[in-house]
Amino acid sequence: MRRRLFWVGIPGPLIVVGAEAALSLPRVRNLISTKWNLPGRISRDDVRALGRAFGAFGLIFLGMLSLSTAIASADPAKTWIVGATVISPERPDSGQVLQVLIDGDRIAAVTPTLPADTAGAAVVHAEGQYLIAGLMDSHVHLTSIPAIPYPMRAQHPDLVEAYLRQVPRSFLRYGYTTLVDLIVTDPRPLQAMRKAPAHPDIYDCGGALPVPNGYPSQNTPAEYRFRIFPNTVIDPVHTENFPASEDPTLHTPRAAVERILKGGGICVKTFFERGFGRDRNLPVPSADLMKEIVAAAGRAHVPVLLHANSIEAQTFGVDNGISIFAHGMWNWGAYAGSESVPPEILAILDRIVERSIGYQATLQVIAGLQLLYDPTYLDRPDVRRVIPPALLTWYRSDEAQWYKRDLAQGASDAAMRERYGATLQRGSRVVKYLAQHHARFLFGTDTPSGPRSAICPD
Ligand SMILES: [Zn+2]
Repeated sequence: MRRRLFWVGIPGPLIVVGAEAALSLPRVRNLISTKWNLPGRISRDDVRALGRAFGAFGLIFLGMLSLSTAIASADPAKTWIVGATVISPERPDSGQVLQVLIDGDRIAAVTPTLPADTAGAAVVHAEGQYLIAGLMDSHVHLTSIPAIPYPMRAQHPDLVEAYLRQVPRSFLRYGYTTLVDLIVTDPRPLQAMRKAPAHPDIYDCGGALPVPNGYPSQNTPAEYRFRIFPNTVIDPVHTENFPASEDPTLHTPRAAVERILKGGGICVKTFFERGFGRDRNLPVPSADLMKEIVAAAGRAHVPVLLHANSIEAQTFGVDNGISIFAHGMWNWGAYAGSESVPPEILAILDRIVERSIGYQATLQVIAGLQLLYDPTYLDRPDVRRVIPPALLTWYRSDEAQWYKRDLAQGASDAAMRERYGATLQRGSRVVKYLAQHHARFLFGTDTPSGPRSAICPD
């Protein structure tokens, strides 16, 4: 059907699920899984397109549809969703009330009026609700557990299990139907999520590429670093940092990218981070190494995502040809107190726009830290819906507050909220400028972005 063409390019399933939905999640997934329909591996252009879609969806997150009518129990192949306001980044009639026909796992038609004969199809009444394409989160860490870093996991096996079981459902609950995990330190929990009865489509970047003892591998005890980060890369400018016990030929960017592809990865994640909190002066990649990584990824047609949130780090990324920044620039260094975005930063942002570099603002990293100091956060109904009850109870315990205490170092909740508020403002000003100049945003939350001393990091 010709109208279907409007929707073919839409990545991810359509969201039609809300808290009160009368459908089970597996049923919804079955109903709505209109896939990002790509032949084989996702190319760099596809990832760019993905970025455009992420940006659009990030701006139009208007709400989800609470279905008011249960689908007929007969499980027909066709379903009309009737009366919803359809939001789409590519349809000229976006924002209008439209009727949507789903046939199997495809959107078969989108029409202004319902045909007279809908026999054989279930009809879902969605008047007064919005219907949007499924959200894609391009920056997640699905197997990292807030407040339970790896060394603590053995003490709380039940909480760990409950959390990991819940994660894919929680993303679905809030409309995320496609996720990209940027750092895989253990593929097994991800594989289990992909086998769960209800889960978003999950892509990943495989093992990330730190330099030896660099961020984020410094969070891991020294003897485990190469085991947890097998794609640690040797820096040709600093070969003295590479341990004699490891084989350097297995740790070239080319070897690392090959391993990522072999494991089904679609992207390469690396870091320019000198450290924060307790960790300062961490080793960072040289420009030569970065160029090697970019070249190896380019040959494999996968994008390079760089953890970078400072002026120095984002300048380094632009200079060396990375594809996507994995964070916004909220560290302004000497300009931290500036009320407006200083010219030095504007100049970098202009280059980011000019080169069409993907931008994951991930301001939720800072907003999430701020929430640690909001005593009412755990009482919120939207939090209670997605955190298993036992874990929620544990989060209220003294033991679980370690990360909050660690960051605050005695500062009051109010002082911490203010501190992160200022950081958030800096990040927001950067995003505003980029948005005004039509930068290429990717929608990414970096969930969960902490805790800092966890093995699974930013
Ligand atoms: Zn991250």
